[in-house]
Amino acid sequence: MVTGGTGFVGSHLVDALLARGAEVVAVDNYVTGSPANVAHLVDEPRFTLVEADVSEELPVEGHVDAVLHFASPASPVDFARIPIEILRVGSQGTQNCLELAEAHGARFLFASTSEVYGDPQIHPQPESYWGNVNPVGPRSVYDEAKRYGEALTMAYHRFRGVDTGIVRIFNTYGPRMRPDDGRAIPNFIAQALRGEPITLYGDGSQTRSICYVSDLVAGILLLLDSGRTGPMNCGTEHEMSMRELAETIRQLVGSSSELVSEPLPENDPLQRRPVLDVIRGELGYEPVVTPADGLARTIADVAERIGAPLHVG
Ligand code: UDP
Repeated sequence: MVTGGTGFVGSHLVDALLARGAEVVAVDNYVTGSPANVAHLVDEPRFTLVEADVSEELPVEGHVDAVLHFASPASPVDFARIPIEILRVGSQGTQNCLELAEAHGARFLFASTSEVYGDPQIHPQPESYWGNVNPVGPRSVYDEAKRYGEALTMAYHRFRGVDTGIVRIFNTYGPRMRPDDGRAIPNFIAQALRGEPITLYGDGSQTRSICYVSDLVAGILLLLDSGRTGPMNCGTEHEMSMRELAETIRQLVGSSSELVSEPLPENDPLQRRPVLDVIRGELGYEPVVTPADGLARTIADVAERIGAPLHVG
């Protein structure tokens, strides 16, 4: 079972699980996911799509071997739009998944996030770092929901014996992101393709380390199969400033969009890069997609979604 199975990461996970022969049930309420992301699976007999809000219920028939909890809006734009829903899916949604996993003796994976480190005061971030999160700031609905979800996962592991794993996902991008999702990569790509100004928040010196979705999915499957508890960071060390990212995208698109400055959102993390020693050492994880390659593939996907002409070389 994959919750958030029609979302950006969830739908790629569904594809990868089906490709290796699994039967997959995707559960989604389409708050940010879309059935269009799994429309290519309509004739796949090993795939079932269930519309449900996992914060309310987890309709399931038959035995479940693994519950992968990937349902959650994840864009800072959503933190202001649907904050209560985010808190609920990270808390009650996670508990519903853990109860199901316990009842079926299933393995449970929790999609956590680099946001548990908040605006980090240690750089790069190892799993042993406890983070710097403002519990009452605008990002707290996501950050604290995920931190609570981690605590809940560990409690079910320690006190109920559930087989659990926690993956801390760093900025991931790729096809099927919503062009209006509000995050830097889809925003910059859509703006560059439309020839609109590229909105750089603050001075653009803040950094992120970007990971193409197939590399993330490879890491998640390694964790799933390993039986390890984690938490484990997953992502890449391709750290770049947002100005550098905007310029790279503009160049790849062949766009003449200008860069314009907009206010930096409150509590926006200044820098972010994972230490990957744990996932490398324990699981043999190695991301392989370069930013140029991954961004080119993502540009092609966004261009198709927004109906923009594409001149990428
Ligand atoms: N950002 C930006 N322009 C945009 C959208 C985002 O400069 O149009 C910045 C944002 O302030 C942050 C970085 O890009 O510093 C990454 O933002 P995103 O929302 O993609 O991810 P997150 O902040 O959750 O890592």
